[in-house]
Amino acid sequence: MSVQATTTRAMKMRAVPGARLARLPQVQRLDDAVRRDIEIVSSVLPFKVNNYVLEELIDWDRAPDDPLYRLTFPDRGMLPEPVYEEIAALVGRGAGREELRGAVDRARRQLNPHPGDQLQANVPQSQSGALNGLQHKYRETVLVFPGQGQTCHAYCGYCFRWAQFIGVAELKQAVSGPEQALGYLAQHPEVSDVLFTGGDPMIMSTDRLRAYLAPLLEPRFEHIRNIRFGTKALSYWPYRFTTDDDAEDLLRLMEQASARGRHVAVMAHFSHHRELETDACRQAVRRIRDTGAVIRAQAPLVRHVNDDASVWAQMWRTMTGLGVVPYYMFVERDTGASQYFELPLHRAVSVYRDAISQVSGLERTARGPVMSASPGKVVIDGIVQVAGQDVFCCRFLQARNPDWVGRPFFAKFDEHAVWFDDLKPAFDEPWFWQSDAPAGAGAPL
Ligand SMILES: *Cc1c(COP(=O)(O)O)cnc(C)c1O
Ligand code: SF4
Repeated sequence: MSVQATTTRAMKMRAVPGARLARLPQVQRLDDAVRRDIEIVSSVLPFKVNNYVLEELIDWDRAPDDPLYRLTFPDRGMLPEPVYEEIAALVGRGAGREELRGAVDRARRQLNPHPGDQLQANVPQSQSGALNGLQHKYRETVLVFPGQGQTCHAYCGYCFRWAQFIGVAELKQAVSGPEQALGYLAQHPEVSDVLFTGGDPMIMSTDRLRAYLAPLLEPRFEHIRNIRFGTKALSYWPYRFTTDDDAEDLLRLMEQASARGRHVAVMAHFSHHRELETDACRQAVRRIRDTGAVIRAQAPLVRHVNDDASVWAQMWRTMTGLGVVPYYMFVERDTGASQYFELPLHRAVSVYRDAISQVSGLERTARGPVMSASPGKVVIDGIVQVAGQDVFCCRFLQARNPDWVGRPFFAKFDEHAVWFDDLKPAFDEPWFWQSDAPAGAGAPL
């Protein structure tokens, strides 16, 4: 056992669901109106914090204006005003459960629970039907959603998987065990990357993770070169890698994968530099890196939390100091509380440019702003004038058809556009990939 594990007292997780937030002692110090908003908004959208988030991340002297509070706590602006008014009126006159439930269900349906048709799209087919819980959109990468990994140690207010957390997803996007995923991967030698995602796969016990991971280290899976874990555990529960009962086993498992020649990539979700500043996070980062795994970092750009170039610049600098590689700055998806968190695309372009220009070349590995849209991952490189017209210069970083990757294309400048679907071709209609019928129609090649 390592020195850290023996000298650090184990932290026990205490999770606090949305319904109990208003009663937290820290929240008692906030305004009555804030507490009332917490109660109303958390009856519609899912929230969850834990003792680490409450005690180590949120700065209660600054709440509710603290970025980590904004990241994890309900706010009135997260609901459209009429929805807020309706629920508030029902709660105010002590409406019955049934009546409240009906209004809450209607409110949830208004909040675009399935953005971009992510649940059905990109699910591969087998002879026995759809392989739910797998996504194969880009030739070389398969996403695996383990059934036991479909929750997180705390929830982000902007989460695009929020519908899953409250069970409104008609189609639970998860595999019940490793067999299905392994069977598919064995038949697809073109796949080099497996990305375990969720929710958060690091919510699973090490034994469960091993059931997915260990078989991938066998010779029949030699084509799987890169094994990635999408996780926010470094932000919301770094003890997963330090003092939890099976933390040491998890690190040994990662080490084993590296020793067998696999590249293990922890795709860490960091929204703000403060998440990287706690002792617990730093220790977790160090221990993961000691296994040979590489930590890459990504997050969406969101209002109230990180819509400030200096926050990103500081975050990327802090990462580099810790050996974490900046990867993507995403554009927030149009779901749930998106109206509260979203920024116009032109603002995203300027935050990215302003941030990237402040940092070292080593930190410019962060690409953005990136939208994970239905034809592929689109980055906006900038805004320029072409033939007298303002345009967004766009490019695919990933695409359904590998031939589209890296091809620049132009979209009409639109100061209100917040997402890819708001964009129109600047010159030739339709988009170049739409006239590329055979590949455009297809599943991954
Ligand atoms: C982002 C993403 C990937 C991984 O893309 P990289 O550019 O290789 O990180 C794979 N599949 C889907 C569906 C994605 O959205
Ligand atoms: S960590 Fe990811 S999946 Fe979990 S709540 Fe945040 S955005 Fe959603």
